[in-house]
Amino acid sequence: GEDIALKWSKAPCRFCGTGCGVMVGVKEGRVVATHGDMQAEVNRGLNCVKGYFLSKIMYGADRLTQPLMRVRDGKFDKNAELQPVSWDQAFDEMARQWKRVLREKGPKAVGMFGSGQWTIFEGYAATKLMRAGFRSNNLDPNARHCMASAAVGFIRTFGMDEPMGCYDDFEHADAFVLWGSNMAEMHPILWTRVIDRRLSAPHVRIATLSTYEHRTTELSDQSLIFQPGTDLAILNFVANYIIQNGAVNRDFVERHVNFRVANTDIGYGLRPEHVLEQRATHANEAAVSQPSNFDAYARMVGEYTLEKTSELTGVSQERLLTLAKMYADPKIKVMSLWTMGFNQHVRGVWANHLVYNIHLLTGKISEPGNSPFSLTGQPSACGTAREVGTFSHRLPADMQVNNPEHRKHAEAIWKLPPGLLNGEIGYHAVQQDRMLKDGKLNAYWIMCNNNLQTAPNTNAETYPGYRNPANFVVCSDPYPTVTAMAADVVLPTAMWVEKEGAYGNAERRTHMWRQLVNAPGDARSDLWQLMEFSKRFTTDEAWAPEILAAHPEYKGKSLFDVLWRNGSVDRFGLDETAREHENFESKRFGFYVQKGLFEEYAAFGRGHGHDLAPFERYHEVRGLRWPVVDGKETRWRYREGHDPYVEKGAGWQFYGNPDRRAVVMAAPYEPPAEAPDQEYDLWLVTGRVLEHWHSGSMTMRVPELYRAFTGAVMFMHPDDAQKRGLRRGQEVRIVSRRGEIRSRVETRGRNKMPPGRVFVPFFDASQLINKATLDATDPISKQTDFKKCAVKVIGV
Ligand code: SF4
Repeated sequence: GEDIALKWSKAPCRFCGTGCGVMVGVKEGRVVATHGDMQAEVNRGLNCVKGYFLSKIMYGADRLTQPLMRVRDGKFDKNAELQPVSWDQAFDEMARQWKRVLREKGPKAVGMFGSGQWTIFEGYAATKLMRAGFRSNNLDPNARHCMASAAVGFIRTFGMDEPMGCYDDFEHADAFVLWGSNMAEMHPILWTRVIDRRLSAPHVRIATLSTYEHRTTELSDQSLIFQPGTDLAILNFVANYIIQNGAVNRDFVERHVNFRVANTDIGYGLRPEHVLEQRATHANEAAVSQPSNFDAYARMVGEYTLEKTSELTGVSQERLLTLAKMYADPKIKVMSLWTMGFNQHVRGVWANHLVYNIHLLTGKISEPGNSPFSLTGQPSACGTAREVGTFSHRLPADMQVNNPEHRKHAEAIWKLPPGLLNGEIGYHAVQQDRMLKDGKLNAYWIMCNNNLQTAPNTNAETYPGYRNPANFVVCSDPYPTVTAMAADVVLPTAMWVEKEGAYGNAERRTHMWRQLVNAPGDARSDLWQLMEFSKRFTTDEAWAPEILAAHPEYKGKSLFDVLWRNGSVDRFGLDETAREHENFESKRFGFYVQKGLFEEYAAFGRGHGHDLAPFERYHEVRGLRWPVVDGKETRWRYREGHDPYVEKGAGWQFYGNPDRRAVVMAAPYEPPAEAPDQEYDLWLVTGRVLEHWHSGSMTMRVPELYRAFTGAVMFMHPDDAQKRGLRRGQEVRIVSRRGEIRSRVETRGRNKMPPGRVFVPFFDASQLINKATLDATDPISKQTDFKKCAVKVIGV
């Protein structure tokens, strides 16, 4: 019968950082069905509504199948319309522009904006091509807008990135505290695990902190709705309560913790503060914090009394006390969960620190159920954006470009001449947009993201940068997004199971999938694009003359040969199992590309606390959580008995730091970069909805998901609507100092706004809310604050 022709294979879901496993049904070269994978520990056969419709994301009617370029009279012309061209025409023009810019301005004027949706292989190839091929660190992922504060918080606290705990904590915790996270919509499958625990163990409690009420607060035992930005005060109040009530775990603190105090004199990264912003890279810890001690810390948080905190935050004293008691009671195991509410915050790094402070003071960390846990938004925000080093300051395995020892290490693994890598930190996401606008970043490639819809302040900064006549902008995407349509060259991209891939989810789980179908038309994976493009350059065209003078053996070689045909990446042929599957890149290049890249990358972390299993193992299992030592994954890091890196008798060891201690960082509450005033009298909060993933470029093309939420609306309190004479459903202008859009008023539904606050989701390309948002960034992580700016709303 028909089912015989249907072949099922495993893959992770393409969307969020939860990392659900799905089974993918393929028939006659097309994905026709998916269902939740019963064998996947993460989701145990369940998917959310996005996951259920995964099979349709590749088959939107306007899928790009041919490269496009702005051409007039057979030549590139920035002001011409986009027209179909061949890959050779597109790559030849790109190479001509890249070489011109490299010649005239050097590596600082070329850049790339990537993604936590890239596969691990793609992110690794991009980091190598940019840093070693073009000697530029102007590579940043859209994870900068999403996870940068969490990543910096981890490194500054524990010396290593990513959570110590894992999803098994859900079944062990007695209390869940959600800091600015609407899990019911954003991480629905993890939310089912929280709810399962809540319903099966009557003593379990859920507290949710947010600036408005939503589906998660509805199902929580207690919600704490606070004034935007004041979560910092609540966190310090909880720490103060713990100290005042004798709930500090003295033994743990004495053995495992150091105290530091944060410097506060750095700005929020708005244009006039640019110089200050440059100063405070998190590579330069001395500039942003100093050693301290318990007494000084206790004095600092002592200011956050119950009365003062309640007044500042708008949360009742009773609710603040209930929250603080959950953390202070040694019998209650607490899982703290956060995502964009913390990270998209001008003090996102501090917010991360302050929640670790609470867990470290009480010793509630790195054991089943006691877990500060940072959730991720993208499928490989951890695996790709962070682990392979696609941030403008990073190299693979938490190493940094401005550390000479780290560069040397990378050059050795990459078999490249010493001194090749550039030690200057590149432009981060917001800076890239500004440098494009200012004509200082001139050859620019956007891959696997829709930056013109998702970057902040796009009206004033991003769009003018793309259209600046000095710049040549390339966008690789499966669909004609607003970003692609503003670019000069558009490259059609293979997606998800149209290529072999690997993602790393929020609990350090690396999981892989095979290529199951071919991409339509001439669409090609980002990996193929990155490698094929490198063929068009010789070392003489890409590297500084002094490097070639010192290492003449590299002279005149193609970048393709020195980066990939280097005896390391091209080590493996396709083995028997792999030959049964499609593998476009490997068939083109003649070696097992993904395996070679993975094994070369794995060499960075093995023996350093970031051990990955051998490549093949990941094709057999539903992912493994690193470090994987002697074939065993690690569920709780830094804890004796769970983590092979912790010595016997030590209890805990935070071995990312030289003295194996974690850091309690004292940091105060600070007001946001912009707040409502008489004219712009409302707070604007932006975010996502359950049905659409990020900018909606995939989910808006799935008919069922499109129909479920057809267009963005502005959620508003009924009194605010009435005061302005607005009716539900009425069209309005949402205006900030930077730009404006039109939307419709919604006073009911899933988000209940307190007076003075409006919420607009960003998935809808016909309502580009980021024309209005502010591009203020956390001074340490450079992550944007999408949760707080001032707008006015006017009826039309
Ligand atoms: Fe799971 Fe996230 Fe995919 Fe939903 S979108 S199925 S929660 S991975």
